[in-house]
Amino acid sequence: MIPHPDLPDHKSVAACFLLPACDIRCTFCISHDDFDVATPALAQGLMEFLASQKITSVVLGGGEPTLWPHDVNALAQHASKLGLVTQLNTHGAGVRENLHKYSNIDRFILPVESSRPDVHDNLRRGLVGHHAMVMELVDELIREGREMTFATVVTSENCADVPLIAQWIKSVLARGARVHSWHLYNFLPEGRGGARKLAEHLATPREAYLEACALAKGAGLGFPVYRRENMLKSSSVEFFWFEEGLLRVGGDALARSGK
Ligand code: SF4
Repeated sequence: MIPHPDLPDHKSVAACFLLPACDIRCTFCISHDDFDVATPALAQGLMEFLASQKITSVVLGGGEPTLWPHDVNALAQHASKLGLVTQLNTHGAGVRENLHKYSNIDRFILPVESSRPDVHDNLRRGLVGHHAMVMELVDELIREGREMTFATVVTSENCADVPLIAQWIKSVLARGARVHSWHLYNFLPEGRGGARKLAEHLATPREAYLEACALAKGAGLGFPVYRRENMLKSSSVEFFWFEEGLLRVGGDALARSGK
């Protein structure tokens, strides 16, 4: 177990960045480039520390966690045995190719930026037909009875599409999808995407963001819809990553690092 001071009791979800690399290029990407690729020993030690706290659920992410050069499913199994719910925050392509490799993942967090492929794909760049791939993966998860959460980064380009996404979610629910929740992340000018040249363009007026969230929450989806105005300041989620072999913790530290 990694030695670290106790976390506050209100932190129940741990977002763990296993590596910085990704093979697509989202315009709003909040991820940073220069933290460590976690070793299996450090990642397992982190799971043990989290299980000793009030954390109930881990989100394995990055970068893109399916590119972690170690066994992410084995890490999830370790977390599972410690009593943690395991979630994979993924762009989906690696899972689409090999869903059977992720048998220890309890829930897949999938990006849906719009129900319109052109709007989605203009935000999620670097993989031709990303929207279509996510739709195929959702179909496969429905067939396999696996649970999913949807995540939308609300920007100036897709804010007006939020009600359309709600309608699409209703359609997948009608087809038997097991949907845990929907998170609406306000665009933040952070990281390798958001901190770069499109920051001003992607920023959404606060009123428009709040209205989109209110429409989503009022859509009658039957599961929680979360407004994440500043994900780095969440009361329930804490962030974990490694730098030069040392554990780093906290949304504030991540924002202040300015990497
Ligand atoms: S936001 Fe996009 S580019 Fe950034 S890590 Fe996630 S999938 Fe990769």
